[in-house]
Amino acid sequence: MAGKRFPWVLAPVPWSDTPQFTRGVKDGLPLLSYGCAPRDKLATYRQLRAMGLRPNGFDPVALLYVRHNKSKKVSFASLYLIEKAAPVRPMTPAKWTALAKANFARRICRSCGKDPMYVLPTSTGQCWPCFEASENEQAAT
Ligand SMILES: [Zn+2]
Repeated sequence: MAGKRFPWVLAPVPWSDTPQFTRGVKDGLPLLSYGCAPRDKLATYRQLRAMGLRPNGFDPVALLYVRHNKSKKVSFASLYLIEKAAPVRPMTPAKWTALAKANFARRICRSCGKDPMYVLPTSTGQCWPCFEASENEQAAT
């Protein structure tokens, strides 16, 4: 079955006026294999970010798949049109404040309301002394 899973298909694509060879369709988007996506036209979110760009609200136009030989797993990456991308918005003081608030909220214990000076696990939202105390309580009852 190797190589048969995603057969080559000649299909119309958003980034070219002429039909291009793709690896079929997945989730309604053209599927591309490693090395066949045009690097000057398509980029992943992280590649856009590295260029100082953002998808600008546009949905991905294609999917890239990579097969990991060792684990036999296939992972997919969304590809965006570089020409539709916009520059990353610069950080404003308000944005820095919002970010600091959000990070601070991650450190406030749900039980005692104190800041233990580390980010709390999202599973409990408690600082370690409170978590231990509640565990002992549960064990006692
Ligand atoms: Zn606590």
